[in-house]
Amino acid sequence: MLAIPMHPHIADHEPHGVHMHYAPPSARLPDRFRAATLVKLSELVCQYGLGRTGVCAAEGCDRVYADTSRAGRRRFCSETCANRTNVAAFRARQQAGPRPQSG
Ligand SMILES: [Zn+2]
Repeated sequence: MLAIPMHPHIADHEPHGVHMHYAPPSARLPDRFRAATLVKLSELVCQYGLGRTGVCAAEGCDRVYADTSRAGRRRFCSETCANRTNVAAFRARQQAGPRPQSG
C-alpha cells in the first residue's frame, strides 16, 4: 500500500495567493500531487457521489477520469479519446450506408 504523507496547511505564495497545501512542506513533488489529488477526488465524491468518476468509454482505453463539469456527462478521459470514438462511429455509419427514410 502506498502511504501518502498528509499535512494540510494554508500557504500564501505566487501565483496563487492564499490556498491550501495538503502535503508536508518537505514532501517530494510526486507526494504533493498525490496528496492534493486524494483530497480533491474525495471532495468530488462527497459532493456529487461516485457518478462523477469512471473509466474512459473509448475502445482500448483504460484511463480513468474525474468529471468536474457542470453537466456531469463526461464519458472519456480526454478530447483525443472522445474524438477517436466519434470518428469511428461516423465511419461505421458511413459504411452501413444511408439510413432508410421514415414516413
Ligand atoms: Zn481514454
